[in-house]
Amino acid sequence: MRTLESFVNGAWHAPDSEGVTTSHAVTGEPVASVSSSGIDFAGTTTYAREVGGPTLRSMTFHERASLLKTLGQHLFAEKEGLYDLSTATGATRADSWIDIEGGAGVLLSYASKGRRELPNSTVLLDGDPEILARDGSFIATHMATSLNGVAVQVNAFNFPCWGALEKFAPALLAGVPTIIKPATQTAFLTEAMVRLMVQSGILPDGALQLVCGGVGDLFDHLGGQDLIGFTGSASTAAFLRAHPAVVERSARFNAEADSLNAAILGRESGPGSTEFDLFVSEVVTEMTVKAGQKCTAIRRALVPHQHLDAATDAVATALGEVRVGDPADPETRMGALVSTVQRREVLDAISTLVGSTTVVTDSCEFHGVDPARGAFLAPTLLRTDNPTNPGVHTTEAFGPVSTIMGYTNPADAISLTALGSGSLVASIYTADPVEARELATGIAAHHGRIHMVDASVADTSTGHGSPLPNLVHGGPGRAGGGEEMGGLRGVRHHLQTTAVQGSPDMLTAITGEWMPGSTRLFDRGHPFKLNFDDLSIGTAIRTNSRTVTLDDIESFAESTGDHFYAHMDEEAAAASPIFGGRVAHGYLVLALAAGLFVWPDPGPVLANYGVDRCRFAKPTYPGDTLTVLLTCKRKTLRAGAGYGEVAWDAQVNNQADEVVAAYDVLTMVANRPGVNGAPLEQTDNGGNT
Ligand code: NAP
Repeated sequence: MRTLESFVNGAWHAPDSEGVTTSHAVTGEPVASVSSSGIDFAGTTTYAREVGGPTLRSMTFHERASLLKTLGQHLFAEKEGLYDLSTATGATRADSWIDIEGGAGVLLSYASKGRRELPNSTVLLDGDPEILARDGSFIATHMATSLNGVAVQVNAFNFPCWGALEKFAPALLAGVPTIIKPATQTAFLTEAMVRLMVQSGILPDGALQLVCGGVGDLFDHLGGQDLIGFTGSASTAAFLRAHPAVVERSARFNAEADSLNAAILGRESGPGSTEFDLFVSEVVTEMTVKAGQKCTAIRRALVPHQHLDAATDAVATALGEVRVGDPADPETRMGALVSTVQRREVLDAISTLVGSTTVVTDSCEFHGVDPARGAFLAPTLLRTDNPTNPGVHTTEAFGPVSTIMGYTNPADAISLTALGSGSLVASIYTADPVEARELATGIAAHHGRIHMVDASVADTSTGHGSPLPNLVHGGPGRAGGGEEMGGLRGVRHHLQTTAVQGSPDMLTAITGEWMPGSTRLFDRGHPFKLNFDDLSIGTAIRTNSRTVTLDDIESFAESTGDHFYAHMDEEAAAASPIFGGRVAHGYLVLALAAGLFVWPDPGPVLANYGVDRCRFAKPTYPGDTLTVLLTCKRKTLRAGAGYGEVAWDAQVNNQADEVVAAYDVLTMVANRPGVNGAPLEQTDNGGNT
């Protein structure tokens, strides 16, 4: 039996008194002793704030994303040791895959999102600037920066690796240090994973700490710059939510609690349909993966009355084919619950449910194990003929247990689903788009995620029970009212968004992004001749002019095939309330603008990869004369790639100085030779390096 250590204040800490003993889920043998005694929790939070936080905040989003990538790759390389330990939690190899590789995958996913979707900066802008003075001299923008505190992450026992990593990844990307507090029962696996992370030396000091055992007075040291991310039961969530750190000092609190998730079979998805088979298969999968110890597991299966008997028989038959037993045996599909204590809790919940249900199946053969020693439990399917009985919608049996029930029509299915009082996820199995819309919009307010299944996604659906890093995980009401992951949403939860008001120049200086009305620097020659490193925010060019002719419009129509009446039919265009006469194609305006600002020779600008935010503000008529103002708006270095991305504010004006088109031109611009991995020899660009 191991005595688990915590990783606090930059060192491993052994408890100074005996701890709680946790047992092997299969053999019942002691596995670990867990205690946090002797930890200086005030010091732990100070270490996070004073050592981890400043280092993380000095790094850009891209630099933090690189840490996540290296760390994720490291965990993948070292995963087998974690698999070996994971069996003691009762998990099969497939169960452990979700936890271990799924967790490492979240790090990689956030690494990729960080590099693709966030700026290479410490500041994240939110939305377009607001112009507050009529002359544009006073503006505002929303700017998000890292909170200066610590993210305390309290996790449930069922996903000791994934549960910790799905909270850690967005926090790290946001520049906020983490203290992980795993559930005592499976802390031995989290501890092993954190050892790998610490030994790798990838993370800066103070970025990650681990507390195995109770939290002591940790929460007393949390305040308005800190976050508490909780996953576990509704009762613990309610207790922690009421802590003065949350109620009085406004520490941010996010809860992922229990949830009686539903699967709804559509009315036309009867026996023989692909949707029926997918429904049956998913209910069985969700009951048996991780022995049903998943917050997202299907606890309530809703079936149209006319299909209830067939669906009940099909689920029971499929459950009978699930091999239950030793999780280390590759043939096993369902292993053990995490502990005999957990099994007792599930059996108690089943007893409560049996008051309002009948048992369809609750026995099986246990292969290669002594069920008296380990925490084994047969998959248990219950059925109720009184589906409005609140018991089946409120009692969570956190194990291989589900209740099947009938409904009469979509409105009935929606109100039965809502009796769960808020859930993480629901699945709907229908090929009928009208029914799909009625059900999905009817239950959406009660859910964090809806999983639509028909035959077309049979091979590609990611599954009812799989929260994904790019999608919201969380749910209203009973599910905790929180939200995790969801791509960058999870990162933003760790940032403070601040409205910053001032002059355009001041806001440009603060945010590092050129703001409308800010000074343009016209004295640098053509900006396309400047390397990434030599370009300043605000570097600009006012181009020569170009008069648009009817010939231009007609030949553009001819070559593209775009003969829309507004460009080609004088009479119809004159009758239009918008145009009042023939106008140039918007895309012709963009093309002519490019002709005005592009520098033709090979040079630092490697490619134009798109435009953003394009608007045609006013029509361009034959005879109008166009000029472009092109301004370096945003620079994003691609570390090690030899180039960076440059967004240019493009404004196309007519002879009256009215804006006819406005957009961002997106380009890749080479670094100086030899800088950031750029080749030493660069194409001649007229001597401007
Ligand atoms: P739990 O008993 O509520 O424990 C969850 C976590 O809270 C554990 O780390 C636990 O630590 C800690 N904790 C308990 N009391 C605490 C206190 N007074 N102060 C600080 N921390 C405290 O839940 P569980 O039995 O581990 O997990 C099962 C439940 O979690 C189920 O109801 C399930 O639905 C829910 N769950 C929800 C999600 C989701 O994403 N929504 C995911 C997984 C599980 P100790 O272990 O040391 O007591």
